[in-house]
Amino acid sequence: MERIRVSIGTAAKLGLVSLKMDAPMYTAYMMTSEPCVASCAYCAQGYGIASRLSRIVWPEYPFEDVLRALRERPIFKRICLQVTYNPRAHRNMILYTRVLSKIGKVSVSFYPMNHYEIQAIKDAGADYIGISLDVASKELFRKYREYESITWSNTLDMLMYAVEVFGRGRVTSHVIVGLGENDKELIRVLETLVDMGVIPSLMAFTPIKGTPLENLEPPPIERYRAIQVALELIMSGVRFRDENFDNNGKLRQYPLDEGVLFRVIKSTTFMVRGCPWCTRPYYNENPSRPYNLPKPIGDTRSLLLEAIKYVKSDS
Ligand code: SF4
Repeated sequence: MERIRVSIGTAAKLGLVSLKMDAPMYTAYMMTSEPCVASCAYCAQGYGIASRLSRIVWPEYPFEDVLRALRERPIFKRICLQVTYNPRAHRNMILYTRVLSKIGKVSVSFYPMNHYEIQAIKDAGADYIGISLDVASKELFRKYREYESITWSNTLDMLMYAVEVFGRGRVTSHVIVGLGENDKELIRVLETLVDMGVIPSLMAFTPIKGTPLENLEPPPIERYRAIQVALELIMSGVRFRDENFDNNGKLRQYPLDEGVLFRVIKSTTFMVRGCPWCTRPYYNENPSRPYNLPKPIGDTRSLLLEAIKYVKSDS
């Protein structure tokens, strides 16, 4: 019988483990159990730690047991299937998607080995697809991520084709803040993705023991807030000008006045963006000070002030 991993939070919600989960969670997160054969420098998967993705532990269960639990507890509004880069996982993802899409809405996040897989995953029943760019700088992509057909230009090509197949606004792409890229590179990539019809889903770099980047620091929260605000503006049609950055590519002003920012920014600016109902609780954060808020908060003013403080600072 095939086995599948589920995030520890999902396992708790499904009653497969005993664990208190306080964050709202509307999406069940699953991952193929075949180890990833790529070796992104920031990901545990490529370094013999198949049971981890970012901060999260993913216990493995027989697929049948997970299906039974999903049917017995119909509490989720979406199922997210993360597929490792492994030919066997790619074969299984079609079967999993076919079965899971009979239970609920399904997002599949994977790196396609060819265009055909994108159409096949749509035909199998997925209504959203995620193809992660992860690294916002072309040079750093080559350094930290490139492997066989996983290249910067191929990723953009796959995203473009995915938009043709799934439609604008139904393709997501995870982008990591804090891998050494500058603000200008990050913001230009977010603009490119949004112009293509892709929804960028921000994540904060999280150092994982045993990976080549285990000693890199996570990004300062003020910088993350500044990028969340920038993404909100980009999503609403604003574009940044070269003079909004200094010579090192650091963001030094928003293209809108502060007063306007206070009117435009809302709670969702600081929450997970991507597929509907995705909260990805504590995926890359310490619960005491989350980069992506797990739920709306009443007063976003202090978060916007953090962003503005970063933008006005020299570093
Ligand atoms: S945005 Fe959320 S639901 Fe969509 S692919 Fe990413 S983790 Fe999964």
